[in-house]
Amino acid sequence: MSDDARARGLGLCSRCHVRKASLRLDYARMSLCDECFVKFVERKVERTLEEYKMIERGDKLLLALSGGKDSSALLHIIKSLAPDVKLTCLHIDLGVEGFSEQCRSKAEELAGQEGVELEVVELRSFLGCTMSELASRRRKACSPCGLARRYILNYYGNLWGATKIATGHNLDDVLAVLWDLYVAGDLLQAVRLQPVTKHAHPKALSRIKPLIELTDFELKAYADIKALPYSPAQCPLGRESKLNKRKKLIDAIESMRPSFKHTFFKTHVKRVSPLLGPLLMARATDWRSCAKCGMPSKGEVCGMCRLKEDLKKG
Ligand code: AMP
Ligand code: ZN
Repeated sequence: MSDDARARGLGLCSRCHVRKASLRLDYARMSLCDECFVKFVERKVERTLEEYKMIERGDKLLLALSGGKDSSALLHIIKSLAPDVKLTCLHIDLGVEGFSEQCRSKAEELAGQEGVELEVVELRSFLGCTMSELASRRRKACSPCGLARRYILNYYGNLWGATKIATGHNLDDVLAVLWDLYVAGDLLQAVRLQPVTKHAHPKALSRIKPLIELTDFELKAYADIKALPYSPAQCPLGRESKLNKRKKLIDAIESMRPSFKHTFFKTHVKRVSPLLGPLLMARATDWRSCAKCGMPSKGEVCGMCRLKEDLKKG
């Protein structure tokens, strides 16, 4: 039993009623032992996969393995739930000094442990520079980083013949972004944020988020109980700082109103999106093919090709 559990006097596990509980999930009104918690997490992912039909017969998955707790847990869970699914992992070495080295080595260690193929792509080979170099030239490094990660995943997914890209985005990640979108009234971007996203372009692979109903707390606990290799480091370029502030705000609401997060998520997916989605999507700009690289683009030239041009100019 963890010190936290002892301090909180959690008592016996609410599921097995035999072992001592090691953690508390207020939203589910349960205290669970390690074994029952692991089953609870895996069952939840299984239900998410089924409910949103995330993995279908014949799918080839490209799993985006960052070396962090979420995608490490995702790989381990998918391998246990669907051992026969065709899967390859891709790690993007962003070249952030003092951060990316550990992420890469943990991703390599886990892939070896799980017996899966891992491709490592260095951002430098795409952009001609690392994220650390880019950050020293530009004040805002986060949006080009996100753009490059999305592009590279899609690019390799196509190259490898993947049908879907699986990422480790969790409930807290998604709600932090949704919060800002709702506050700004950007409902089009909000309704695009879904457990499964599809774009009408042959090279835009469908994306699935099997961990979308699990929190940061649950995924860290899962990865720790299972002793999965992962890097706990946060990006020093500040990628997570704005997101973390939103997460803290939402955590504060959750502590006053347990299950707020799950309600927010369900309302978004089951109520708001079906109502507004068809209306807003009709107004959205169609995807076209980038005149330079042929990848999906909203304009004549895609964001990645424009970024490369900008960097060449200095
Ligand atoms: P983040 O935006 O860092 O919260 O990452 C969300 C998800 O994107 C992770 O769970 C991964 O699936 C994927 N991802 C992020 N960074 C990388 C990376 N360097 N290489 C591969 N996948 C990544
Ligand atoms: Zn392009």
